[in-house]
Amino acid sequence: MGKAERIQGVRGMNDVLPTDEVYWDRFEEAVATVMRGYGYRRIRTPIVEPTALFVRGIGEVTDIVEKEMYSFTDALNGDELTLRPESTAGVVRAVIEHNLLYDGPKRLWYQGPMFRHERPQKGRYRQFNQVGVEALGMTGPDADVEVILLGNRLWDELGLGGIRLEINSLGQADERNAHRAALIAYFEEHREQLDGDAQRRLHANPLRILDTKNPAMQALVEAAPRLGDFLGPESLAHFTEVQRLLAANKVEFRINPRLVRGLDYYNLTVFEWVNEDGLTLCGGGRYDPLIAMLGGNPAPACGFALGVERVLEQLRRNAPDLGATGCDVYVIHAGGAVGEVAFQTAERLRDAGLEVILHCGGGSFKSQFRRADASGARFAVIAGEDELARGEVSVKWLRGSPIGEGAARQETVALAALADWIVDAMVASDGADI
Ligand code: AMP
Repeated sequence: MGKAERIQGVRGMNDVLPTDEVYWDRFEEAVATVMRGYGYRRIRTPIVEPTALFVRGIGEVTDIVEKEMYSFTDALNGDELTLRPESTAGVVRAVIEHNLLYDGPKRLWYQGPMFRHERPQKGRYRQFNQVGVEALGMTGPDADVEVILLGNRLWDELGLGGIRLEINSLGQADERNAHRAALIAYFEEHREQLDGDAQRRLHANPLRILDTKNPAMQALVEAAPRLGDFLGPESLAHFTEVQRLLAANKVEFRINPRLVRGLDYYNLTVFEWVNEDGLTLCGGGRYDPLIAMLGGNPAPACGFALGVERVLEQLRRNAPDLGATGCDVYVIHAGGAVGEVAFQTAERLRDAGLEVILHCGGGSFKSQFRRADASGARFAVIAGEDELARGEVSVKWLRGSPIGEGAARQETVALAALADWIVDAMVASDGADI
């Protein structure tokens, strides 16, 4: 029989292979530590939500809703559903549904896959992961600064450098409306310089024109009316306090008056963390209108979402030799009755907290040794018939031998003392915490 045709994974949706796991582990541990440190609690919402949630929550005239959502009709009941392109809408839906704000503000975080039908390229995928925080029920600006500090601590915890903070204020709806009217008038005056996208957005969402990547429009956009000039005293005071608190906490930032963020629900503070290549790792801000927009009792909110793949890439650059680590022990055995003892031996070692691979599938000692070596294990335990008859096994250092790397060192150890012997040997050689 010939080989069946291979089925490839979906374009833009990546496998995370075990060799990458060490970076994910490191990242997830850092996230958990930092979230605990700021009193944020995890919330897990479904990957699928009603399409209407995103249309209303993200905004009809946005790239995401216009052309990037994986939306479908559930063939079994006709429901209109969408794979979540982001998580804030889902979290807010859950908060409203379970009345989580009944007893005051909530600090929440989430992690999980998001789905956007974008053109795949480096740092841009169709399934990607985000970690996000939502600080709900607090008017800020202290809460705004808290979520920024939390992000800053995460970079520190991961040892990431070269990530800069950009901030801006989007003001309130009436201020944006005045700015919007001025923008429309300005762009209408220069209509002949607008590309197709910009012409289409001119009346629906002129703010998004400022976000254009089209080089031909940069000069036009640069000279457009600035929202900052339309902010009233309250919005300005909020923004000034954000800046003061950031400075007081020694967080460096740059005001980027062109920072608008892609989604409709932001107001007042918006911010982005950007790496040396200008790639945004994390974006967020305040979105006070959203909870009411989704049918909840009006309550203020702010938060951020970071792209996990982009942060992991940064981590890889900063720590290229985080390299995969192997298990503690690989058990090699002669099979048959000895195999049974080997099984029990492996279980006892696991009881002691060791990470153990038991050789499966038989084979010569030589081929088993090759597997043991390839596994990255620290020790091989060799269970042969004669030794076992004496209640003993051999232990061989595969790496990290105290008498020198590569030096063969093998000892005979009583089975009953094996777990203690290995734990002691590990602690003695590098103080390993088991
Ligand atoms: P957004 O919800 O668009 O503000 O995205 C927040 C963060 O998620 C961005 O700053 C990126 O780091 C990351 N992100 C957004 N879209 C993608 C994507 N298609 N692929 C990978 N990461 C993404």
